[in-house]
Amino acid sequence: MFSAFLIKYAEIGIKGKNRYLFEDALVSDIKYALRRCDGSFRVHKADGRIYVDALSEFDYDETVGNLKTVFGVSGICPVVHVEDLGFEQLTKDVLSYMDNVYADKHKTFKVFARRARKNYPMQSPQMNEELGAAILEAFPDFRVDVHHPDIQLNVEVREKIYLYSEVIPGPGGLPLGTNGKAMLLLSGGIDSPVAGYMIAKRGVHIDAVYFHAPPYTSERAKQKVVDLAKLIARYTGPIDLHVINFTDIQLYIYEKCPHDELTIIMRRYMMRIAETLAGKNNCLGLVTGESIGQVASQTMASLACTDDACSMPVYRPLIGFDKNDIVEIAEKINTYETSILPFEDCCTIFVAKHPVTKPNLKVIRDHETNLKEKIDMLVQTALETDEVIHIEA
Ligand code: ATP
Ligand code: MG
Repeated sequence: MFSAFLIKYAEIGIKGKNRYLFEDALVSDIKYALRRCDGSFRVHKADGRIYVDALSEFDYDETVGNLKTVFGVSGICPVVHVEDLGFEQLTKDVLSYMDNVYADKHKTFKVFARRARKNYPMQSPQMNEELGAAILEAFPDFRVDVHHPDIQLNVEVREKIYLYSEVIPGPGGLPLGTNGKAMLLLSGGIDSPVAGYMIAKRGVHIDAVYFHAPPYTSERAKQKVVDLAKLIARYTGPIDLHVINFTDIQLYIYEKCPHDELTIIMRRYMMRIAETLAGKNNCLGLVTGESIGQVASQTMASLACTDDACSMPVYRPLIGFDKNDIVEIAEKINTYETSILPFEDCCTIFVAKHPVTKPNLKVIRDHETNLKEKIDMLVQTALETDEVIHIEA
């Protein structure tokens, strides 16, 4: 029954002169998401709106599901196109629309007609009145409410006439590619995939880095990270996932530094390597899944020590989130089930029983000097292990 979608976008409407850049990005992101669907579509701008016209048969649920992954889309309105065969026929089409879309008619409505084509022989207020009266007569359970209707039936007169009333919520945010690129530190946990989703929602493309420690972490743990990247790529677009072999660095830190500081020092080396990769790949910042106080390495004092290791901005979209809130998003974006698979994301031998919760930056820096003999070489070698996996959903 539906043959098109009208795409609503909120925030990009306010971007003044840049508006067309945002709209063009949105059009291209919509096309990209729709390539996952059966069917062919035309995505185009018209009169400050974006339309998706179906050019073939298509699967409604699949198409809506994919449109719901496009950041910048605030609402998706399924549209019925009818030929302009005169007002009498339009009235019949409107009645059949209302009948088909609303099985339960105990609802209030108003008709909102607009003439994009001004040569239509009837003016909008009269169309509203006559179509409204016809609906009331055909289906007496409907009631009119012009202020807060349950249903606003839009009747748009163009080449064809467009009927739509339903608005399916989109993900909101800004279209990808309108805000540069960032490097996500992606582990196999619950948090970092959600952090990647959140930053991408603000229009940021992402690449990702995973620190792998074979044989202490298994191939299955790495595969889990690849799977997670693939799941978020539905929203974030293509991701270059860098897999870095971190084993020798971890072992060296384990050998040379106090064990209660292992996590912090290890995290500082992750940030340094991530920053180098970010620089090489045109990323403007790092992204992690940290949230204040979640674990010892995420107290304010620990985060300050982590930040000190790199000069690039570190974005932590989950910083003020409770675990429950994060889990809720993970479930919504379908990463939760994969994140909780039991493959270790960091070998337990490297996790101290009583890690410091208030690390002192001076002390940490001082203990890092124990590494001076080999660490630069090990970091260099680790960077050379960089395995880039191109991920697309
Ligand atoms: P997550 O659920 O994202 O793994 P977490 O609560 O387990 O987070 P930590 O293990 O302390 O927290 O890691 C904090 C952040 O550091 C992660 O969110 C992620 O961004 C990054 N990180 C941790 N381990 C790795 C790793 N092996 N590879 C890449 N990034 C990592
Ligand atoms: Mg983790």
